Amino acid sequence: MPARRLDGTAWAERLRHKLEPRVAAVRRHAGRPPGLAVVLAGTHPPSEIYVRNKIATATAHGCHAVLHRLPETASVDEALVLVRQLNADDTIDGILVQSPLPAGMGTDAESRVFDAVDPSKDIDGFHPVNVGRLVQKRQALVACTPLGCATLLDREEIPLRGRHAVVIGRSDIVGKPMAMLLLHRNATVTICHSRTVDLPAICRTADVLVAAIGRPGFVTPDFVKPGATVIDVGINRVEDPSRRSGYRLCGDVDFAQAAPRCRAITPVPGGVGPMTIAMLLRNTLRVACGSPFERA
Ligand code: NDP
Repeated sequence: MPARRLDGTAWAERLRHKLEPRVAAVRRHAGRPPGLAVVLAGTHPPSEIYVRNKIATATAHGCHAVLHRLPETASVDEALVLVRQLNADDTIDGILVQSPLPAGMGTDAESRVFDAVDPSKDIDGFHPVNVGRLVQKRQALVACTPLGCATLLDREEIPLRGRHAVVIGRSDIVGKPMAMLLLHRNATVTICHSRTVDLPAICRTADVLVAAIGRPGFVTPDFVKPGATVIDVGINRVEDPSRRSGYRLCGDVDFAQAAPRCRAITPVPGGVGPMTIAMLLRNTLRVACGSPFERA
């Protein structure tokens, strides 16, 4: 049987439209649209595209979405001043600081700037307060990408309870919160990383395999148990002279080779990416509706 294609684009569209009454409710009660502020520092071409998509989606769904740019040469202090202004701005519900920050800001810049965001406006779910609340299974703003993956698994009714879920990648943004969301759904979870020994053998025991690595086509059929569900978080640019842009996007999974072994699999593009943006809207509305610490 061919693998079921988990259509993130279609689910994301449905979820976004379901949020529209909440946008209208915020407008009615607050007398203003839900507000989203995006901070973009420096010039990083993929970030430009991600930010453009986020602003366009939020605007298309009736939010007031503003982009705050900082130059490549900006200091951490400048970024902190801006974040504090946005924390105090009553018209802004959600704040997102686009990663990566310019290298010139220093190695600890991201943690310093993310930590400065008011946890109740932290729609990216990166603040230690939200991370801690997620770990304790309390109401939290959860990172949009793993939340999008979990929502897709829920909507597609992929069984998780008692199943073995393997997450490749242990980043704070994707791998770790993904593992927590799977654990909270009663999966037995293994987290793998670059030091994991015999990675393919561990992955072959997974009923649900999540790849969040950042290496194009890394997950081959050898990693996939027949009948597994595979969630491909990776977004990689690979050269493609046949495209006008000169590149194409692909995931961390070798889709063509791995899909025939899977029960279900997400494509790239069209899988996790659109779900991430839908979750951004959902988190913004959660804050705007006054319930930022809703259960994950
Ligand atoms: P990071 O670089 O922060 O983390 C990558 C993880 O992969 C690390 O934990 C690393 O292990 C692990 N890894 C790297 N090489 C190997 C290897 N050979 N074997 C096993 N594990 C390995 O990336 P992110 O988590 O931020 O992102 C992962 C991917 O997801 C990227 O392609 C990114 O573009 C994409 N992404 C997609 C989003 C979306 O909306 N769809 C949003 C965010 C990210 P170690 O810790 O040991 O170094």
